[in-house]
Amino acid sequence: MTATLIDGKAIAADLRAELAGEVTEFRHATGVTPHLAAVLIGDDPASAVYVRNKQKACEKAGIKSTLHRLPDLLTEDGLLTIIHQLNATPDIHGILVQLPLPKHINEHTVLDSVNAAKDVDCFHPENVGLLVQGRPRFLPCTPHGVQQLLVSAGTQIPGAHAVVLGRSEIVGKPMGMLLIQRGAAANATVTICHSRTADLAAITRQADILVAAIGKPNFVTADMVKPGAVVIDVGINRVDDRLVGDVDFAAVREVASAITPVPGGVGPMTIAMLLRNTLTAAQLQTSESA
Ligand code: NDP
Repeated sequence: MTATLIDGKAIAADLRAELAGEVTEFRHATGVTPHLAAVLIGDDPASAVYVRNKQKACEKAGIKSTLHRLPDLLTEDGLLTIIHQLNATPDIHGILVQLPLPKHINEHTVLDSVNAAKDVDCFHPENVGLLVQGRPRFLPCTPHGVQQLLVSAGTQIPGAHAVVLGRSEIVGKPMGMLLIQRGAAANATVTICHSRTADLAAITRQADILVAAIGKPNFVTADMVKPGAVVIDVGINRVDDRLVGDVDFAAVREVASAITPVPGGVGPMTIAMLLRNTLTAAQLQTSESA
């Protein structure tokens, strides 16, 4: 069996076009332009590229974006002061703090300081709590993007056994949390695996849906995949100046029924979902102030 390719780039482009229409309608109805403030600390080239791509996507969707580029040596207090200013600026609806942060800055302290109503990455404990309780304000960007890919590919999610590789706060945990919720695009039975999971391959082989988010190039091999499974590769790893995922794409493609490529799979969806959250934030803040 050669798997169907799930074309994240094309699916994300459709979603972004739809969103651009909604942004235009919102602007006409309210006179408000959704506005995302991105905070980038230091000069990590990969982070700079991610932020630039997010800004470009904002522009195309009619969302205003501003970049706050800050030096690596900025103190934690300095960063908190800037975030408090962004929190207090009424025409900024979403705040994105690009990770990773320099080592001298505590990630939790900084992410907790973002106004939960502007937390378009869905990292704030209040938003994570709302998600866990099944009444989300925002959906976490990468996991929501994965969920949308599954839906677009026509995957039967309810009742499926979804195995998530990785338990990070950004991908693994919220991924499991989304798929375990009630609803037509969820209702899966979820297993979350990590580096201490015993006999990992025996678990992955039970997966109807396998989501790999561990950050290890080509880690998931064909013998770890159940024939006919849907495989979503979140991993982005640079190998010999090339981007590869966490899944051994060429071999797994012969076993799975559908699979995402890297690049061009989950990455573009993460950006589309960020734009969606920025519009949601603007809508919520505008209706509150009306
Ligand atoms: P983290 O490094 O934060 O987490 C990795 C997870 O994988 C951890 O839970 C770790 O377990 C687990 N893990 C590591 N090695 C193994 C192993 N041998 N067996 C089983 N589990 C293992 O990574 P992220 O979640 O932030 O990112 C994962 C990947 O996804 C990266 O390649 C990243 O670049 C990519 N990514 C892509 C995005 C996109 O938009 N496409 C967005 C965000 C991330 P433990 O907890 O025990 O250490």
